[in-house]
Amino acid sequence: MQKSLSPRAPRVLGIAIPSPLRRLFDYRPAGTPPSCGWVPGLRVRVSFGRRQLVGVIVECRDHSELEFSRLKPIDACLDSAPLPEDWLWLCRFTARYYQHALGDTLSHAMPVLLRQGRPFEARTRERWHATDTCSEDSPGKLARAPRQAALLEMLQQHPRGLTSQAILAQSFTREQLRALEAKGLVQCREETLTQAVTTEGKGLLASPSLTLNAEQSAVLAALHEGLDQFHPSLLQGVTGSGKTEVYLQLIEAVVGRGRQALVLVPEIGLTPQTLGRFVQRFRVPVVALHSGLTDHERLDAWQAASSGRASIIIGTRSAIFTPLASPGVIIIDEEHDSSFKQQDGLRYHARDLAVMRARHHQIPVVLGSATPSLESLLHAQRGNYRHLHMRQRATRHPPARLELTDIKARVRRGGLVPPVIDTIGATLKAGHQVLVFINRRGFAPTLACHNCGWMAECDHCDARMTLHRHPPILACHHCDRRRPLPDACPDCGSGDLRPLGSGTERSEETLGELFPDIPVYRIDRDSTRAKDAMDRILGEIRKGEPALLVGTQMLAKGHHLPHVTLVVVVNADSGLYASDFRALEHSAQLLEQVAGRAGRAAHPGRVLVQTMHPDDPNLRLLAERGYDALARTLLEERRVAALPPWRYMALLRLESPNESQLSAVANQAGTAMRGFLQHSKREVDCLGPVPAPMERRQNRYHLQLMLTAEKRSLLHEASAWWVAWLENSAEARRVRWSLDIDPQTL
Ligand code: ADP
Ligand code: ZN
Ligand code: ZN
Repeated sequence: MQKSLSPRAPRVLGIAIPSPLRRLFDYRPAGTPPSCGWVPGLRVRVSFGRRQLVGVIVECRDHSELEFSRLKPIDACLDSAPLPEDWLWLCRFTARYYQHALGDTLSHAMPVLLRQGRPFEARTRERWHATDTCSEDSPGKLARAPRQAALLEMLQQHPRGLTSQAILAQSFTREQLRALEAKGLVQCREETLTQAVTTEGKGLLASPSLTLNAEQSAVLAALHEGLDQFHPSLLQGVTGSGKTEVYLQLIEAVVGRGRQALVLVPEIGLTPQTLGRFVQRFRVPVVALHSGLTDHERLDAWQAASSGRASIIIGTRSAIFTPLASPGVIIIDEEHDSSFKQQDGLRYHARDLAVMRARHHQIPVVLGSATPSLESLLHAQRGNYRHLHMRQRATRHPPARLELTDIKARVRRGGLVPPVIDTIGATLKAGHQVLVFINRRGFAPTLACHNCGWMAECDHCDARMTLHRHPPILACHHCDRRRPLPDACPDCGSGDLRPLGSGTERSEETLGELFPDIPVYRIDRDSTRAKDAMDRILGEIRKGEPALLVGTQMLAKGHHLPHVTLVVVVNADSGLYASDFRALEHSAQLLEQVAGRAGRAAHPGRVLVQTMHPDDPNLRLLAERGYDALARTLLEERRVAALPPWRYMALLRLESPNESQLSAVANQAGTAMRGFLQHSKREVDCLGPVPAPMERRQNRYHLQLMLTAEKRSLLHEASAWWVAWLENSAEARRVRWSLDIDPQTL
């Protein structure tokens, strides 16, 4: 702060520029300094090479490693006050932790319009009202100004007022408005363009809270302790145990003390339903940050949060970068969800940043889930997080257990075996709905030749192409290439080409044939592409008529489907034997979540899980003893295998269209790292290079190397060294590389 009071301007500004280079660029201050003086957090426009870019001042100092006379002046300062301090802190932390360029991090973490250099202020508009001094006969007294009389009459008919735009559109003029204002008959108020959603009236709550059950009360009481401290809690509550109600009442306490709540939900979880629960409960302004916002709306939401105008901010992953005027609590719902980790560019994990941010602000953070990540479970086990449980559903029925159904060597129709088809029939007959979960879109995973065994493969990836029926094409789900269906096998010329396996489209078709009188609703990325398609389908489903719902995880997550009493998992096996060490954890979480859709309202539910491996010990553990028991086993396996969360991991991914060049660079990177580790005797392991799980994607080859360490600080030292080595290696510049700290997938 002292810096800004100093009367003398700094001679050098260290500026972060949106570029992958991990360094600041020095410029000279120029022009009139803003009233706050030259301080970190101001956006400036600078010439960078031949381009003009928007950067952020990060350092103000008097010396530079370059000769002073060679420093270019900035072109302009874009702000009169620095961007919010808490935001700047978070970006700096993020850049350091994830070994990412600060300029790129700042640019990623700000709304597009700020990135483009637009002003950081809420857009406002004028709203005109008739004043209280007006009476019914006021217009009559304006006989000599008939247009003013008409205007006043119009405003009197609109108690909430009218915007200038609406008034001018009725061919009234600004002069007429000013004249009425001078007579004290109308007044103008400025309002922000995107008002945070707020319900009119007095008091905090728009609708009363529910009376908590014993488990919920105990959890809320625990969360109420220490609202002014950093207090991480893992709230493990089965689906339907009423976690959201606990969040709502915790937020009530926080907002009641004049502070803000930031709530993060998974990408698929930010439904109008979820938002509705918050907006209906509170009278205070709520803003939602999601991918559907326009750039202007996003900037306004940011402004509302950083000015304190919004009390509750709900958003997906990137909302973690929302500046807050007076943070009071951060809540991460479904904390295990993989959408909290960004998988490209700046590879941050919003849950982990939330914990760091809460520590910085000294406020509580709540991680909620029915199936917590092994990372959070280990933190709880070690006492870093308080572990709170809710084991009962808030509604009538206990969660359904998984019933394993053997499908080995059995006839299947659309992937379903006869006993399962019978159970579906009986459920529909009883007037209920059935959810068929199949985590593959398209008609079938591939097209195969029945004569020679040929399978349709993508020319550009090590992957099979998925068969789609409407329209009939082969599509690669990894690079999005499409091909028409071949008439005959390209290998043997046979015309006997058949779909292999089932996707959502095939299940939809088969179920339609099996139950011709029942509507079938398919919910996947293809069927919901059109705007509002999802809402329309959900609207139909909520009517409660017997129906079949076929869907991918889009349907399995987040949605409240009160009329579903039977859930069928078409194939539970894909995750059981996958190479990724987290595959089992993730598929167990998904299975539990799918199962949680059954029997949430008036009737109890059943969950049938089809598998080729009904004796798989992990699957049986999950079915018989539940997620907790399986998680304990997996955690132990990870300890023995020296994998996360017991050890910290960083993954270096390298890719290139040139296979031999790639392998040369990867080997050099491995050798260099091993040399560094040996020389400095670090307790860090370096593995690889090994081919990535899909070695060829979009005609590019992928190799990876891995670092693991028991101590995070050691992993970070090694990672930082590696990044510096890669940036300075002429060879490494010929390939594309990225370092992923705490990777979620290999
Ligand atoms: P979760 O988030 O744990 O899956 P929800 O908060 O969505 O659970 O609650 C599930 C259902 O139970 C919702 O319909 C909710 O309104 C209801 N519910 C939650 N708590 C209570 C309560 N204390 N009394 C009555 N109903 C409740
Ligand atoms: Zn063939
Ligand atoms: Zn492909």
